[in-house]
Amino acid sequence: MAYIIAEPCIDVKDKSCVEVCPVDCIHPTDGEGEPILYIDPDECIDCGACEPECPVEAIFAEEDLPEEWHRFIEINAKYFELKDHPAEWTKYKEAHAADFEKKA
Ligand code: SF4
Ligand code: SF4
Repeated sequence: MAYIIAEPCIDVKDKSCVEVCPVDCIHPTDGEGEPILYIDPDECIDCGACEPECPVEAIFAEEDLPEEWHRFIEINAKYFELKDHPAEWTKYKEAHAADFEKKA
């Protein structure tokens, strides 16, 4: 299990969560170059420290993630899988462009 960052973070990215994460698993840490921040599911220790810091309630324990934002489970994990392969990550984002849009 891990915590997940979902749709409300898009274009907000105030980085409050980055500051409190004890294992620095929320990236990009400067918030630049991505529409949203991501939590590394392999590094997150489920401490929950980030969740109450988010001003837009974008962070959820995976089991509490609302159904309409389940796509962000894959998105958070994919970023870390592909971040060392920028061309592939860009291709993934283009192929899933609608998933990175703010719908609510
Ligand atoms: S739950 Fe804890 S370890 Fe996981 S991203 Fe949030 S602050 Fe970091
Ligand atoms: S605190 Fe919330 S809005 Fe701010 S960067 Fe983290 S997830 Fe995004």
